[in-house]
Amino acid sequence: MVQQYEIIVVGAGPAGLSAGIFIARQKASCLLISKDLGGQMNLIPKLENFPGTLMSSGPLFARSLENQFLTFNGEMTYDTVERIDEVEEGMKVKTIRSEYIAKAVVLAPGKVPNNLGLENENTFANKGVHYCTKCDAPFYQGRTTATVGVGGYLLESGILLSRMASKVYLIFRGGKLGGDRDMIASIEKKENVELIPNNSIKEITGTNTLQQITVVSNSGEEKKLDVDGLFIEMGSKINLDFVKHLVKLNSKGEIEITSGGKTTHPAIFAAGDATDIPYKQIVAACGDGAAAGLSAFNYVEKLKGKPGIRADWKKTIGDTVFHY
Ligand SMILES: Cc1cc2nc3c(=O)[nH]c(=O)nc-3n(C[C@H](O)[C@H](O)[C@H](O)COP(=O)(O)OP(=O)(O)OC[C@H]3O[C@@H](n4cnc5c(N)ncnc54)[C@H](O)[C@@H]3O)c2cc1C
Repeated sequence: MVQQYEIIVVGAGPAGLSAGIFIARQKASCLLISKDLGGQMNLIPKLENFPGTLMSSGPLFARSLENQFLTFNGEMTYDTVERIDEVEEGMKVKTIRSEYIAKAVVLAPGKVPNNLGLENENTFANKGVHYCTKCDAPFYQGRTTATVGVGGYLLESGILLSRMASKVYLIFRGGKLGGDRDMIASIEKKENVELIPNNSIKEITGTNTLQQITVVSNSGEEKKLDVDGLFIEMGSKINLDFVKHLVKLNSKGEIEITSGGKTTHPAIFAAGDATDIPYKQIVAACGDGAAAGLSAFNYVEKLKGKPGIRADWKKTIGDTVFHY
């Protein structure tokens, strides 16, 4: 028999785990389906910008969220969601191994950063090679860095690094920078930024951590650069094939949401990096995950003819507003 839940959450990154915590704590039956635990948090050995959390790491933080979810009797299964469809009883969620029915679904499948495809890139991940400049630039105060990437991501990376690093090599294949004119003008004024046009990265080397990169020009000339950090900003992959027939996506392939994580489908809510929010960071994913979880809970309660909970946690009696 197909297992039934009130709400199914897809993805155990910070957005999905936070949604799960807020749903399970309301005592709604909740299944969290994910390929892995933690998502992109597994790429963060040192997490220093989650408010109130000192000296944590992404994997440790993921474990805490998982424990919290399980404490409230949430259920979790490691599997991949292949397709979601509307059926008479609600939403059918098909995974590689099984099928489930839920009244509502919270989508939190996040994204995966693209890599450059260099031979030993994985070896140096977080040992000098980074995929999120806004997350990791502060680790390179006063140090020598390089950045490579595409379009606006590269420009933003260059600007962020120029505020922290003593030197920034900005490497790009074309003859001149493309994208936002103000950003380009800002980069061109920075004394610590050296543009390296018509080049790409051929090799990265070091002993335990990254020490050197080799750039190769379009005409084949090679040059070695000593760097402490290399930032790769090649964009990210978001895979929403399993649900794109049900919710509206924007031109970047992100799920369009409105307040409370509502999508264009009444029974589907979404949060985190797979949505069109700005500032994609863990704290935002957790907050939006909580909101999407509560919206899904309210949706299911209303189906039962119950009032649900107030999204803004306040109640007006007569002329008085009680916050709780
Ligand atoms: C290198 C790097 C460093 C970062 N450093 C920081 C930092 O220091 N501070 C900070 O605040 N943010 C940082 N970020 C950003 C932060 O990690 C993300 O904003 C956050 O993880 C997004 O959370 P999410 O839950 O939306 O998605 P994700 O973390 O991407 O999690 C998505 C989850 O969904 C699962 N999933 C996807 N598709 C399916 C499917 N079809 N079926 C089942 N499961 C599925 C994935 O396996 C994964 O578990 C960093 C990101 C990167 C790449």
